[in-house]
Amino acid sequence: MGIFGSGDTKIAAKIEKMVRTIEQECEYTWRSTGRRTLQPAVLAAMARVARHEFVPTAMKPFAYDNNALPIGAEQTISQPFIVALMTDLLEPQSDHAILEIGTGSGYQSAVLAGLVKKVFSIEIIPHLADQARRRLTEMGYVNVTVLQGDGYRGLPEQAPFDGIIVTAAASHIPAPLKDQLKPGGHLVIPVGLPYSHQELMRVSKDPHGQISTRSLLDVAFVPLTGDEGRYR
Ligand code: SAH
Repeated sequence: MGIFGSGDTKIAAKIEKMVRTIEQECEYTWRSTGRRTLQPAVLAAMARVARHEFVPTAMKPFAYDNNALPIGAEQTISQPFIVALMTDLLEPQSDHAILEIGTGSGYQSAVLAGLVKKVFSIEIIPHLADQARRRLTEMGYVNVTVLQGDGYRGLPEQAPFDGIIVTAAASHIPAPLKDQLKPGGHLVIPVGLPYSHQELMRVSKDPHGQISTRSLLDVAFVPLTGDEGRYR
C-alpha cells in the first residue's frame, strides 16, 4: 500500500491526470500569467496531496477534477490549477515561512506544507478552522498552524513572511499584509468585486522595500469577509 492507502492505483492515476490538466491550463493562460510551465517542485507538491481528503463525502468522486468544489458554509476549495499557479507565484523555498488568509479546507496549506518550512493559515469561520486543523494534524502535516480569526490584519506576531497568499477576494490589497511581507517576497491575492470581476494580483516587495503590483489572470473567488475587508 502506498501513501494514499487502499484504492491507490486509481487515485494515483487521477492525480497524474490532474497534474497534466494543470500543465495544459498553464499553456492556455501563459500570455496572461507569463508562465508557460510551473516549477517542477510545485507540480510534485500538488501530486503528493490527497485532495479527496479535503472535500465532503459527496464531492469525493470529483476531487481530482480541475474545478472548485463546495466545502460547506458557502465556501469552496479552489480549483487545482489556481492552487498550483498561486503556489508557483509565491516562489516557495524550503526555508520559507508563508502566511495564508482563508484556510477553508486546508488543501492549499497542505500543498504549501510540502514546499516550505512553516505555514500559518488564518480562517474566519470557526468550524472550518477547527476542521482544517484536525484534518491536517491527522494527515501528519506538522508544519502548519491554523488560527481562527480575521486575516485582514495578518499575523503581526509572526511577521515578516517570505510570502503571503490570500484565497478569498478582497476589494483592495490590505495594507497590513503588504507591511508583513519580507523584502524579496510576494503577496498573491485576488482583488475585485464579490462573485464578479476579480483579478489575481501579485504584489512584490523588492530588496529595497519598493512595492510593485502585477495583474495576472481573471479569477472567481469567494469574498474576503470580516469588518476590515468588507466591501465598501
Ligand atoms: N484555501 C482554501 C480555499 C478557501 S475559500 C482551500 O484550500 O480550501 C476562502 C476561505 O476564506 C473561506 O473558508 C472563508 O471563510 C475564508 N475567509 C474569508 N474572509 C476571511 C478573513 N477575513 N479572514 C480569514 N479567512 C477568511
